[in-house]
Amino acid sequence: MQANYIAGQWLNGVSERPNINPSDTEDLVGHYAQADAAQAEEAIAAAHAAAPAWGLSSPQMRADALDKIGSEIQARREELGQMLAREEGKTLPEAIGEVGRAAAIFKFFAQEALRVRGDKLASVRPGIEIEVTREPLGVVGIITPWNFPIAIPAWKIAPALAYGNTVVFKPAELVPGSAWLLADIISRAGLPAGVFNLVMGPGSVVGQALLDDRRVAGISFTGSQATGQRVALAAVKRGAKFQLEMGGKNPLVVLADADLEQAVNCAIQGGFYSTGQRCTASSRIIVERSIYTRFAEHMTELTRALRVGHALKAQTQIGPVVDASQLQQDLDYIAIARQEGARLLAGGELLTLERPGHYLAPALFGDCDNAMRHCQEEIFGPVLSLIPCDSYEHGLKLANDTPFGLSSGICTSSLKHASHFKRNSQAGMVMVNCPTAGVDYHVPFGGRKGSSYGPREQGSYAAEFFTSVKTSYIQA
Ligand code: NAD
Repeated sequence: MQANYIAGQWLNGVSERPNINPSDTEDLVGHYAQADAAQAEEAIAAAHAAAPAWGLSSPQMRADALDKIGSEIQARREELGQMLAREEGKTLPEAIGEVGRAAAIFKFFAQEALRVRGDKLASVRPGIEIEVTREPLGVVGIITPWNFPIAIPAWKIAPALAYGNTVVFKPAELVPGSAWLLADIISRAGLPAGVFNLVMGPGSVVGQALLDDRRVAGISFTGSQATGQRVALAAVKRGAKFQLEMGGKNPLVVLADADLEQAVNCAIQGGFYSTGQRCTASSRIIVERSIYTRFAEHMTELTRALRVGHALKAQTQIGPVVDASQLQQDLDYIAIARQEGARLLAGGELLTLERPGHYLAPALFGDCDNAMRHCQEEIFGPVLSLIPCDSYEHGLKLANDTPFGLSSGICTSSLKHASHFKRNSQAGMVMVNCPTAGVDYHVPFGGRKGSSYGPREQGSYAAEFFTSVKTSYIQA
């Protein structure tokens, strides 16, 4: 059994949970410790005790530790990628790519630890000088989802440590393997005991303990809207700082002047890769009516040709759905879309392959109306809806007609429409002639409306959340 890491010690939990491979449900990846609320409190206490010294530690020491973590992740990316693909179901190349990204993030924040900036200004009152400085928050609780088992933990843990915070990390229940390997690497980076803690266990127990404990000064959360709301309410109640990254219903607008081949590839890539289980996945493809039929025919052909299979097999393009309950959610929405009158152009059926797994043929729906429920609610699976539009203006209106606002895209050869879309799309990230999913690690990540709340993640903007600003007035 793989243990929790608390105050520099590996500790068994109160129970254990099996980790099952979604590509082959007879393959047991391992058993992982499950903490209770008391063990979560031990981790919080350890992080709280370690916070003052770590907050004052040398930036060079923090930079060296983060760099070391990044180097080991990079050196072991094949092995970590295998674990990630095996427990989450994304294909091996996607998984290894995600691990490489996690390594790059640690190396980026190693350097950021040396670049914590402040400001010095003259006061409006004579003889007084003002300094604006950044300080760590203290203990940060990090709560992550299952769909990026190493990149999302990396983009929260690395800045938290870089800016001098201590961490209690609670990964998603479905993907403890990648979290445990990451914790193992971090445990050997020379951090003082208590600076980093891993506590695996149920969200309602371990996650909730982080939300409710006054010693946790900040909570960085990525996951569903429903859980995000719980985080927000609990944090506001006790005055903790929080940031939320939640769902998406991301649109890709395809105009008549687009390069059709490029647009279809953006839609297939953005919609179906990683089994559609990306918060930035395109789920609404809004296509100008004059090219709609041609576009739909080409999409149907390519969707049918996608090779669904075991995540570790070389020829697989689309891995399994992560677990039985997510698969049921996908099937429920496929049934809803059909009842609403959307036309199923391809896929949508369960697949029986060599090994027993949660295999679903990517589903493509045509003739959808943006007001339909399956076009408004996040499905989080390989389900794409084609929505015809009359013009660019109509396409933009439909794109913005959603409770979410994470990423959006447009395929067009018109500079005028691309520029207008960039300015007027109500999303945190806008892509022109690129898939809505797939972002860089050194620039801000996040959305608007129901998708995100609080300061952006990643890049140097991460300092906004992971530090607190102090303004000092000095009379010489
Ligand atoms: P989830 O909300 O079910 O779980 C997320 C995390 O919250 C897990 O670690 C879970 O254990 C924990 N949790 C559950 N109940 C809790 C509670 N009461 N208190 C504290 N923590 C609790 O989400 P999920 O199913 O793991 O992930 C899928 C969702 O994540 C999708 O909606 C997806 O769009 C979203 N997501 C968003 C982004 C983004 O950056 N915007 C990125 C990836 C995933």
